[in-house]
Amino acid sequence: ARKKLQKLKKTPAITKDGTEITLLANIELPDDCPAAMEAGANGVGLFRSEFLFMGRNSKIPSEDEQFEQYKRAVVLMKGRPVTIRTLDIGADKPLDQSEQTALNPALGLRAIRYCLAEPQIFLTQLRAILRASAFGKVRILIPMLAHAFEIDQSLAMVAQAKAELRERGVKFDNDVDVGAMIEIPAAALALPMFVKRMDFLSIGTNDLIQYTLAIDRVDYEVAHLYNPLHPAVLQLISMTIAAGHKAGIDVAVCGEMAGDVKLTRLLLGMGLREFSMHPAQLLSVKQEILNSDLARIMPQTRKIMRSMEPNVIADAVEQLQLM
Ligand code: PEP
Ligand code: MG
Repeated sequence: ARKKLQKLKKTPAITKDGTEITLLANIELPDDCPAAMEAGANGVGLFRSEFLFMGRNSKIPSEDEQFEQYKRAVVLMKGRPVTIRTLDIGADKPLDQSEQTALNPALGLRAIRYCLAEPQIFLTQLRAILRASAFGKVRILIPMLAHAFEIDQSLAMVAQAKAELRERGVKFDNDVDVGAMIEIPAAALALPMFVKRMDFLSIGTNDLIQYTLAIDRVDYEVAHLYNPLHPAVLQLISMTIAAGHKAGIDVAVCGEMAGDVKLTRLLLGMGLREFSMHPAQLLSVKQEILNSDLARIMPQTRKIMRSMEPNVIADAVEQLQLM
């Protein structure tokens, strides 16, 4: 079966009825890029940049150090787009284990909140990312946005980082796209705020499920309640895809749901055309896409989206796999 999957590496991910799907890789470090290329990824949809910052006893990597790593990923991806998520530190990804002091780390000063509170750290990272954009297609992805002012401040910081590089005479792609992770329910419920300011959206289902269902994603005692098929979760995902496409911007899913072959057809039926996942899942998801017929999947998905009954939804999702 593995061999059969390997044969799909160069096959474009096109549904039976002719819709092309973009399959991207999630990476933690540039060293993961060869695996992404090996799986035939169309690019990197999520570079979890915090892994460059972790395990260093809170010593922040310098602009040059970061630049070298981002550039390495860009070069290794050979012209395919690389979506670099800005520092998503805090909660399950502490900068320093001993710094875990917040009562509710998942609701605390993490990700963009941390970056806006530490503007020098944020600007340093943005300059490093921008410098890498001179070597290939780079996109900037901002995690954990909920407020309009956070989007505006993030964009202002990108503009400031650009101005600083211009001052230094350093090259970068002035048109670099900036996108938002949709992973807080408030964001999914206030999409006009996002689509008018952002170039693309990426749905972080791991956190979206955590925050929608109020379940700590790393607490095994409530792990049985962590259900991607909860109707509230599905509504938020579907709304985000629809709002993004209506506004003419790309929408990806980069949480674990994107790499779950049992959910591939459901996401296709919701209109998703961009999936980002661990490289190891990519060819299986591609195989599922190649065997999928959107014309048959869409009506069944609409039925699922009209239901608020978990059993009906679970059965209908199983039916989707047999279509
Ligand atoms: C997510 O929240 O779904 C996501 C992709 O980001 P992370 O798992 O790194 O929080
Ligand atoms: Mg997340």
